[in-house]
Amino acid sequence: MPPRVYIRGRLESGVDLGLESTHIIFTKQRRGLDSAHSSLPLPLLLSLTDCWVPRRGQLPGTQRRNTSPHAMAGKKVLIVYAHQEPKSFNGSLKRVAVEELSRQGCAVTVSDLYAMDFEPRATRKDIAGAVSNPEVFSYGVEAYEACKKRCLTSDILEEQKKVQEADLVIFQFPLYWFSVPAIMKGWMDRVLCQGFAFDFPGIYDAGFLKGKLALLSLTTGGTAEMYTRTGASGDFRYFLWPLQHGALHFCGFQVLAPQISFAPEYASEEERKAMVASWAQRLKTIWQEKPIQCTPPWYFGH
Ligand SMILES: Cc1cc2nc3c(=O)[nH]c(=O)nc-3n(C[C@H](O)[C@H](O)[C@H](O)COP(=O)(O)OP(=O)(O)OC[C@H]3O[C@@H](n4cnc5c(N)ncnc54)[C@H](O)[C@@H]3O)c2cc1C
Repeated sequence: MPPRVYIRGRLESGVDLGLESTHIIFTKQRRGLDSAHSSLPLPLLLSLTDCWVPRRGQLPGTQRRNTSPHAMAGKKVLIVYAHQEPKSFNGSLKRVAVEELSRQGCAVTVSDLYAMDFEPRATRKDIAGAVSNPEVFSYGVEAYEACKKRCLTSDILEEQKKVQEADLVIFQFPLYWFSVPAIMKGWMDRVLCQGFAFDFPGIYDAGFLKGKLALLSLTTGGTAEMYTRTGASGDFRYFLWPLQHGALHFCGFQVLAPQISFAPEYASEEERKAMVASWAQRLKTIWQEKPIQCTPPWYFGH
């Protein structure tokens, strides 16, 4: 089934396609769409979509969750944030997320990885005390053993505690080489270890972090048009596969649709403000969203 979409923005003229979800195509990208793609068939337009922004409070056809203020108050959110500069666009997206979620009564914790000088390298130092095989060091084996014995180094344990307590983990980052910045990859390597986030056969829907939500909020250098199936960079869902499926879903997270702010450096001030506002707007109803079907068809089509 094709993605269900309500496109707003310049195409907003009110044409409700009778489909589900909302995607904001910002002015710069709309210009491209209007000139280059407006006559394209709907499926091709739809291929430009998938960073959904709920429009009327609830995505039609999704199960409604209890989103009364009482239900949201008490929700715990961890934002894992990777940008060096607080005044950056990523910094703004992080800031409005903290403001909006706190306003809802959620308890929000931020792991500001650069500010924390978070250690990204997975090394022998992560195991406090003796390793089980001093002859040949295997990080995966030793981290697993140390996790079981609660002998991981304290910065890992602190991050695991934050994850354990969170109902929703938001990853806020600029796209680096079709992936997360190294410091965030290091967070994944070290924090989501076997024994904590998964263990066999406890993977994917049986992963240890099941029942939790995860959301990637990222910015790109490339435009939305570049990140289409026929664009120079290919569909953005291709680079989401290893992150959303290979890491987050593998550990049991249910994955919410990504928030992708395309090319803020090349957008106008007005367009950038609109992107920040749309993220804040989406967060107002984030607890009503249904996770994506995190399986190959979502990423690569049928
Ligand atoms: C090592 C590396 C690898 C990369 N790999 C890729 C890749 O594979 N694919 C790709 O597409 N891109 C890639 N990029 C580009 C990168 O993703 C972008 O540079 C990044 O996403 C831009 O986000 P930013 O937060 O750094 O933007 P910024 O430069 O911080 O922000 C853009 C502008 O927004 C302004 N701004 C900040 N807050 C607000 C606000 N509230 N309202 C209005 N304006 C605001 C800022 O002042 C600035 O003028 C790569 C970059 C690097 C360094």
